[in-house]
This record gives sequence, C-alpha cells and structure tokens, in this order.
Amino acid sequence: MQIFNVLGREKQTFTPIHEGRVGMYVCGPTVYEHSHLGHAKTYVSFDVVARYLRYRGFDLLYVQNITDVGHLRANEEDRVLVRAAQLNAKPMQVVETYTRSYFEDMDALGVQRPDISPRASGHVPEQIEMIEALIAKGHAYAVDGNVYFDVLSDDDYGKLSNRRVEEQQDESRDLIGSGKRHPVDFALWKKAEPEHILRWNSPWGVGFPGWHIECSAMAHKYLGANFDIHGGGIDNIYPHNENEIAQSECANDAAFANYWMLTGSLNVLDPDEGIPVKMSKSLGNYITIKDALQDYRPQELRYFILTSHYSNPVVYSDEALASAKSGWERLMNALRLVRQQMNSAPQGDAGAGFRERLGQAREDFGKVMDDDFNSPRGIAVLQDLTRDVNILLNSETEVGLDTLAAINDTYDALGGDVLGLAPAADQSASGDSQREAALIDMLIAMRAQARADRDYARSDEIRDQLAALGISLEDRADGTIWKLS
Ligand SMILES: [Zn+2]
Repeated sequence: MQIFNVLGREKQTFTPIHEGRVGMYVCGPTVYEHSHLGHAKTYVSFDVVARYLRYRGFDLLYVQNITDVGHLRANEEDRVLVRAAQLNAKPMQVVETYTRSYFEDMDALGVQRPDISPRASGHVPEQIEMIEALIAKGHAYAVDGNVYFDVLSDDDYGKLSNRRVEEQQDESRDLIGSGKRHPVDFALWKKAEPEHILRWNSPWGVGFPGWHIECSAMAHKYLGANFDIHGGGIDNIYPHNENEIAQSECANDAAFANYWMLTGSLNVLDPDEGIPVKMSKSLGNYITIKDALQDYRPQELRYFILTSHYSNPVVYSDEALASAKSGWERLMNALRLVRQQMNSAPQGDAGAGFRERLGQAREDFGKVMDDDFNSPRGIAVLQDLTRDVNILLNSETEVGLDTLAAINDTYDALGGDVLGLAPAADQSASGDSQREAALIDMLIAMRAQARADRDYARSDEIRDQLAALGISLEDRADGTIWKLS
C-alpha cells in the first residue's frame, strides 16, 4: 500500500509499526454547533480509510477525539463558552448537545464510529502530566498561571507545515504582557479568569488546557508515543498539527505519527466572486449535515465526497450533487436488478463465466485503493463493473442463482463494506424498503391486469403516477422491472 505522507510530501510504502496492526488518530470536531458538510468530507474520507484498512485485513485501532474544552477563537474567547452564553446554557450542556448531534449525523451518513472517542475534558490529568514532562525537559515554562511551549527549544518545529519560526513572527499577535519568551510560543495551560467556568486545579493554579495538548495526550494514552497514521483536515496543519508534533515528540522523546494524511477542504463558490471558498461556520456559507440530509440520501452525499480524492478540495454545488445522485442510482439500479432476479433465478451456476469479471473488479479495486485510498478510481471500477452487469442481465444468457449471489457479494464488499454506498441486501429488504418494494410490485401487477383488460388509460395512469414518485417502469420480455429515476 502507498500513502501520500504530508510529513515529507511524498508517496511512501505503508509499513505499520506492528505487522498486521494499525493505530490511527484523527482530530475530531469541536462540539459547539451542528456539523456541516465540510466536517462530513473529513470524516467520511477517514471512514473509508478505516473501512479499507479493515477490508485489507489490518487490525485497526481508530481514535478520534471530541474537543469539548480549550478550543479558543483567534480573539482568545472559548468557543464553547461563547455558545453557552448565547444559548443561556451550561457549557457541558452545549458540549453534550452537539456531541450527540455529531454522532447522529455520522450515524446517518453511515460513518462507522471510531473505536475510542475520548473527550478532552475527561483527560485533563493526562494533559497536566504531559505539560509537567515538557517543563521538566526544558521545553515549556510557566508564567503567572499560564504555561507555554518553548518553540525555540525544538529544532524540528515546523517540519509538517514547512514553516520556519522566523517567518512566523509577523503573523503572531501582539503578546505584550503575556509573559511569552517568543511570539510563536503557544499555550499548553491557561490561567482561568474568575468568570471562566471550565476550570481545573493544576500545579500552576486554577486553569484549563490549551487546545493542542489534548490530541498529544489522548493519542499517547490510547496509541502510544509512536503510532502509524495521524489524520485531520488540511486547515489544521498549522498551528494545531504542528504543535501536536512538537509537544508529543519533546515530551515522549520518540517520533509521533509515522504517516500524516490530511483531507482537502470542502468549498462553495462565492456568489459574488465566483471563486471557491472554504465552507465554514465563520464565513456563514455552510450547510449543516442535517439540512443536506433533507434533500439528499446519505449515500448520495458519500458518493459526492468520495468521487474526489480525500486530499483534494471539492466544490459543493447542486449540479455536483445531482451528478452524484445519478451516479449512485446507476449502481443501485443494477444492484436492485441483481437482487430482484435472485428471487426467480434458476439454481446453479449458469453464467459462471462472469465470475472472472468479478475477480477482475476486485483486483482493480484493490489496486486503486492501495494507491493512497483512491476512492474516485474505486467508484470508477464499480461503474465499469455495473456496465458489464447490465449487459449480462439484459442479454439472453441464463444467469443462475450462484452467479447472481457472487455479483451481489462483490457489490456488498466493495460498494458496501468499503465505500459505504450500497446497503446490504438484508437491510434493503427489511422494514420500509421491503414494504415499498411490495407496494410497487402490487401496482405493477394492477397495471398488467389493466393492460390485459385493454384498459390502457388505466395502465398509463399507474405508470405516470409511479413516474411522478420517481419510479420508472421498463417492460421486458420476462416481465416489468422498476428503477428509481
Ligand atoms: Zn488534534
């Protein structure tokens, strides 16, 4: 397997530290608002990374944190506290509300939950311990209840984002009175002013942890000092990820993550300028996942996200979503036809020659996904297969149950288990969708009866009403089939 390692900016062969096992840490959300499609892109992308690693047989431990304390805005206000004041709620109420909202959204999008979702507020002792280690090793210093990381004490600082300390001076805000030795030194621990509600006792007085230290402390606790993959969104490369590396490597005297994978952002076209800009809460140009799910199926949103490589930016538009919708439906219509035919197909392996084609699809899929998780090419492999499945099922060739089951298994494995695009047969055949299919079959039978009675007005009416509901009928020699259109 090859991974484009942002640390070093090159594609590298993936060699896990322990054979057969992978430890992966992904920076999680700050829970003070509903998640938007930009978050969906990051977490759907890593969901597919996790699913593919498991498909490849790796024993994966996937850790993704929940930031519920310490994420300050540029003006040093705590995001959670600002939101709590707006809502007239307790900070932990805000955090609980939006943590639940986040998991609801991820569950709806078919994102499998990380193995561990540690919360920053539940790991303050671990963060304090790491800060103490940094002070003991001369990489951090305490001033007036604050503790800062001493950036100049770390020769490697800047290696992920390729920034040099000298270049960063101009960007640092005015630090007069903060007690920092250097403008780029960053806070590991902040003194809590009396009105600050999120507060803990520490060796430096009452305060709260800085944002970056939580990821270092929690990655260390659950994955060890040195682990395989660290992921996140590209916009957090600096300062967040850079500071994580500095803290962890200086505290633990060991390399931090071996491979860094960062996702490109989800952009929208600026209505005035016509240029892509990042979807973000602060720009006010965001669509929440909950709103998007009113208009699109979760699989359509996944399809849209996965038709771009995870590391690339993607531009959200109604046209792009419409195209994702039709691409996904093409796959699903073929899969539905396979499953329909399984109900009436002859036993046996008639059409077994097609198994070679299925083997080819699995091989091609593995090849492109091994190449830095290239999901757009993985989807293209499935679309190519779908073309051939359609040709097979529309031909005169008899296709036996075994062959149809093998086709179904291939979609389940590649489209379902790895990409999360194809619902499993038992799922689509249960509950609502089973009832929906039975109702459509009943209407098709009524239409056939109307035609047999030469009541063409009635049969056309049934067809048109189904069409208005997005269900199109196709009359074939062996009966009528239906598709979502
Ligand atoms: Zn992080």
